[in-house]
Amino acid sequence: MNLETLRARAQSFSEAVAREGYLAYSGHKPTAALQPIYAAYADVLSDDALALCVEDFRGTPPESEAHRAARMMLEWQVESQVSRAMAPLDEREIALEHDTVVRVADGREVPYSRVSIDIANTTDRGDRLALDAARAGVVASTFAPLRRERLQRERDTVERLDLADGYNATFSLLSGVPLADLATECTAFLRETDAMWSEVLGERLRAFGVPRSEATRSDALALFRVREFDDAFPGDRMEETIRRSCAEMRIDATAGGRITFDLADRPGKRSRAFCSPVQVPQEVYLVLRPHGGQADWGTFLHELGHALHFGYARADYPFEYRWLGDNSVTESYAMLFDHRLMDRNWLLRYTELGKTRTGAYLRFSAFEELHYLRRYCAKLLYETIAYGGETSWDALPDLYATMLTDATGFRYRPVDAFLDFDPRYYSTRYLRAWQLQAVLDAALTERFDVDWWRNPAAGPWIVEQLFAEGQRETAAELAQRVAGTPIAFAPLLRRVESLLAA
Ligand SMILES: [Zn+2]
Repeated sequence: MNLETLRARAQSFSEAVAREGYLAYSGHKPTAALQPIYAAYADVLSDDALALCVEDFRGTPPESEAHRAARMMLEWQVESQVSRAMAPLDEREIALEHDTVVRVADGREVPYSRVSIDIANTTDRGDRLALDAARAGVVASTFAPLRRERLQRERDTVERLDLADGYNATFSLLSGVPLADLATECTAFLRETDAMWSEVLGERLRAFGVPRSEATRSDALALFRVREFDDAFPGDRMEETIRRSCAEMRIDATAGGRITFDLADRPGKRSRAFCSPVQVPQEVYLVLRPHGGQADWGTFLHELGHALHFGYARADYPFEYRWLGDNSVTESYAMLFDHRLMDRNWLLRYTELGKTRTGAYLRFSAFEELHYLRRYCAKLLYETIAYGGETSWDALPDLYATMLTDATGFRYRPVDAFLDFDPRYYSTRYLRAWQLQAVLDAALTERFDVDWWRNPAAGPWIVEQLFAEGQRETAAELAQRVAGTPIAFAPLLRRVESLLAA
């Protein structure tokens, strides 16, 4: 095998996995048969393939285009080998998620896969806490040990490759994400927003009727499950409205027919929406199971950002730039689109909120945004400790609960320490995407005005300057090219502050 054949095989392997995932998770097939694909492509994830990627990575001059591509191939090779090693554990977990029932003290029985939805929808606080206590019992006996084993194995698998000194250094080397710098930024963000968060959280909890000293993570789920604005986001007008909004900036929402919207309700369809690029850019699916209300609109916009990114990627780019790279970039396009729901003028033009309710909606959105930002900052800081390996596995649950409780003001349970955890540092991608999205929004505003999303010159620019590039650049490189600025929390923070005062 040489690099050329590996690239070609890697692409057809990625396409096969994506197609299988699309068919299974959209309800067109009962299960995803991934093992046969791994078997058919054993050469793609072999020791030889890994050695080839390592050799190419070490043999190309740093800063060269060849080195950039080699880094992406090696990162992909490592991630795929880890995924394959974890597959039996993942399959066990999926089966357990399907079969486990949570028994509440009052006699109710709830399927485990539904329990967090029910917690969010339970308005009686006593019922909610009882449900969460029952859930925690099941997690402690069933899922927590499985996830802990998974994380231990993942860390060991990566460290055994011996590419850098430990898991964290390996991640930074392969992803191009400066983990230590990001952690420092997260610490500063938490410190800088502490007083603001304390004030706004206090107000919201008072209105919600939960004493501050008692607020739990299950209360947070219910608090953020707002329904009062749902009527302003009608389900039957969602697709047409958002297609029209794309057309106004001269972007075809289907990317010339390459994107297929799968928005129908269907048994077996996953409740969580996803975008599946089966061939990049020729065949992309946006899959969503409608639940109703503003959450659907946000989800649709988010997945549409991903879908357009894949659907408009340059067809002549190599596999690496179309399929691999820094996922902060695709997440930032998804967020650039879903953040239209925090844009007053967009809301007034495309939703039925109207002038009277837009202010209240924006203040609530800013409260939610600040909550998630603080939660993700704390999660990342906790994950760097967990992956760092200097703290014992037994000490992690209490540490997790303390860090997340301090950051959010909602009491977290130690038992969730290994479940509420993004493997392979996906949390870094979200955090950097958040930062990049704010930079892109500012750059678009400067070029095409505050309502850039209805400027007919903006769409073609977005397609050519952003989407076409795939993920050739990291988030930081992209921000430099487009705006001449580094990515940082500062613009996000300013935006949250101004919306809270709206
Ligand atoms: Zn996303």
